[in-house]
Amino acid sequence: MRILVLGGAGYIGSHTVYALAEAGHSVAVIDNLETGHRAAVHPSATFYQGDLRDRNFVDSVLEQETELDAVIHFAANSLVAESMRDPLKYYDNNLCGTKTMLESMVAHGVDKIVFSSTAATYGIPERVPIRESDRTEPVNPYGETKLSMEKMFKWVGKAHGLRFVSLRYFNAAGAHVSGLIGEDHHPETHLIPLILQVPAGKREFISIFGTDYATEDGTCVRDYIHVTDLAQAHIKAVEYLMEGGHSEIFNLGNGVGFSVRQVIDTARKVTGLPISEKEEARRPGDPDVLIASSDKARELLGWKPEHDSLEDIIATAWNWHRRNPDGYRE
Ligand code: UDP
Repeated sequence: MRILVLGGAGYIGSHTVYALAEAGHSVAVIDNLETGHRAAVHPSATFYQGDLRDRNFVDSVLEQETELDAVIHFAANSLVAESMRDPLKYYDNNLCGTKTMLESMVAHGVDKIVFSSTAATYGIPERVPIRESDRTEPVNPYGETKLSMEKMFKWVGKAHGLRFVSLRYFNAAGAHVSGLIGEDHHPETHLIPLILQVPAGKREFISIFGTDYATEDGTCVRDYIHVTDLAQAHIKAVEYLMEGGHSEIFNLGNGVGFSVRQVIDTARKVTGLPISEKEEARRPGDPDVLIASSDKARELLGWKPEHDSLEDIIATAWNWHRRNPDGYRE
């Protein structure tokens, strides 16, 4: 297959490009390198640097890429707190970028797209594990724009015959087993990379945001899913569309929750190093528990997480952080 990956220099995008290349597929990447890293792009991929909001740029890529089977779309801003401070940045980049891309895809007859969505589309869940049919009421502009992007695909699909798969991830973590690519965000806000900065000597302690949640140990519970398993789900989703599957939304998680304290303890075990912690106030907008039901992805896509132990997830992340304490150093 020839696949165009939007945002293929970012964390989950770069792992998906590696998985596609390793499976023998041919890949083109678009990334504006605002948050992505050129060094994260697999060497076999054709790289186009530019912004999805630039119609001329997107058209020029699609004019060159005449053999495309599908597009996988990761190109979006994804920080909850930033989206609360600057919602219009999220409306502009996430929605306007997707709109321009879809205009160009419709004009060039590219009719299949796999989309990187999020559990943030649900907001505060009405039950756990969360199912795809559950209420979607985002509590921040990040989740709201991702939900609007899904709806854009739906209506463009009805009008122009586009088919889409939207993958709502829970907590992506871990790194490629090679240690060549991994998570490198500026600023870093995610729990596992922040924890690992402590044994890596980059941070004094890990903050625990909130110890009075309605969970067993009082800290938030999340469903951590290995980035390589997410990458495989994107390939399965493209294959599903290639085989004629109709538009669908799938959750992707392991179906098991770990508390912040459990994640810190597991990181101590995996690294064999002490990790100091500090209890702090809640971070605004964090639900007590987020756990996915991924039964639908297992049934319809035939997807199954391979790296489903938290030890394995943290061990691959630690391998990346130890080898690359300063990330991609760009
Ligand atoms: N968290 C924490 N300390 C940190 C970063 C995160 O206690 O330094 C908590 C956060 O409140 C949440 C969980 O860890 O309950 C996972 O947060 P993350 O930002 O990794 O992912 P999110 O669930 O927000 O997508």
